[in-house]
Amino acid sequence: MNQQAATVATPHRITIVGGGAGGLELAVRLGKKLGRRDKARITLVDTARTHLWKPLLHQVAAGTLDSHMDELEYLPLARTNHFSFRLGRMDGLDREKREIYLAPTCDENGEVILQRQAIGYDTLVLALGSQTNDFHTPGAREHSIMLDSPNAAQRFHEQLVNDCLRAQARGSRAGQTPLTVTIIGGGATGVELSAELHMTAKILSSYGLANVDPEKDLRIVVVDAAPRLLQALPERLSNAVARELRELHIEVHTDEKVVEVSEEGVKMASGTFIPSEIVVWAAGIKVADFVKELDGLETNRINQLVVHRTLQSTRDPNIFAFGDCAACPLGDGKATVPPRAQSAHQQAALLAKSLPRMLEGKPLLEFTYKDHGSLVSLGNYSTVGSLMGAIARGSVFIEGTIAKWVYWSLYKQHQIAVSGWFYTWLATWAETIDRARNPRIKLH
Ligand SMILES: Cc1cc2nc3c(=O)[nH]c(=O)nc-3n(C[C@H](O)[C@H](O)[C@H](O)COP(=O)(O)OP(=O)(O)OC[C@H]3O[C@@H](n4cnc5c(N)ncnc54)[C@H](O)[C@@H]3O)c2cc1C
Repeated sequence: MNQQAATVATPHRITIVGGGAGGLELAVRLGKKLGRRDKARITLVDTARTHLWKPLLHQVAAGTLDSHMDELEYLPLARTNHFSFRLGRMDGLDREKREIYLAPTCDENGEVILQRQAIGYDTLVLALGSQTNDFHTPGAREHSIMLDSPNAAQRFHEQLVNDCLRAQARGSRAGQTPLTVTIIGGGATGVELSAELHMTAKILSSYGLANVDPEKDLRIVVVDAAPRLLQALPERLSNAVARELRELHIEVHTDEKVVEVSEEGVKMASGTFIPSEIVVWAAGIKVADFVKELDGLETNRINQLVVHRTLQSTRDPNIFAFGDCAACPLGDGKATVPPRAQSAHQQAALLAKSLPRMLEGKPLLEFTYKDHGSLVSLGNYSTVGSLMGAIARGSVFIEGTIAKWVYWSLYKQHQIAVSGWFYTWLATWAETIDRARNPRIKLH
């Protein structure tokens, strides 16, 4: 009897921390491959109870997307996909004991729901994502909204609607400065948000709300320290976007470094000051500070965990990291895989093949990033981008309906990876009906 018990091996424990664009896809794939047959015990940990694909955040902020429609609950997803879900924020690691630690979880009133927890692992996968980097700019954290979580996007949206209502109530007086929203960061997030906000204001104005017309009453400003918008993307794309924004009367200030944010507005190194009611900080990313001191794991200057091409951390082969929180070599040089949803998606697909191989004693696979191009959505006005790799030979510039469709299909790929074809098909119909039935802007 004892001998029999001794031969029953406990399944290998794979603990994934972070159920975002990459982590949730990986948990679902491994759950189906390994969890279903008890070949491994998959646990997903996240600080939130629901998942929202991060590239949708600027639409939540502008109110053009109701986050509740697109949010997925982790618990039922775990049940149907053969993994278990644990709620909590990881704040520590003991590599010798093979345990991670989760801080106590409290409710809105500060009441403790879950005490401090320890979760064991044999293989740990960190998919913690990133947060906005304010580069220690004075006043940035206190006086601007960092658009890096559904809560922040929701907070921004509430402030926007409230400010629009205030603008309507106070009426227009001669010489009065318009309501100003300043977006710091001219990357994809900042640019997409500016166009989305323009559309929100236009729709609110069409509902009869006075003093929020984006052509005359609402000032939208995008500021960036780089000489052009979308610095990381091809120049042609950047020029096309700048042209579109100018046509929408969105002000663009490039080559302007923000040195301070205050209650009154935004101050630049050149001395220019932009009085602003709402400031959004969307410039740069970093990984949470606790990762810097994660039991001796190697990190870079923005706290990303340094990993090999197998996505194993350089100092511990039992710990993997991917997505925004990892610095994975891109080629032979110093460049690393860009922090994008498509990188997280590709790396999740690789680990979903690689980790089952590891359990069978086979070598791990190495990651090669395939850049399929970049797309920037300017709300309903336009979508521009470049396609690369297998889809096109070299780089092909696209605009209009095709670009819009390719952009939309990125999200659908994620939905399919997490929820399957049938649910995605149903959800797409539900979205279409909901858009026809409800106002195009969320007002609460
Ligand atoms: C507004 C906006 C627009 C974007 N648009 C695009 C786009 O159009 N195209 C594109 O390719 N990319 C876009 N990105 C970037 C893209 O969202 C990220 O690259 C992608 O989400 C990274 O995936 P990830 O799995 O690494 O992290 P995330 O998707 O950020 O997921 C991280 C998860 O970890 C959880 N977590 C964090 N810390 C802890 C902790 N300590 N303990 C437990 N759980 C934790 C979080 O709750 C979250 O669920 C955009 C980003 C933003 C903010």
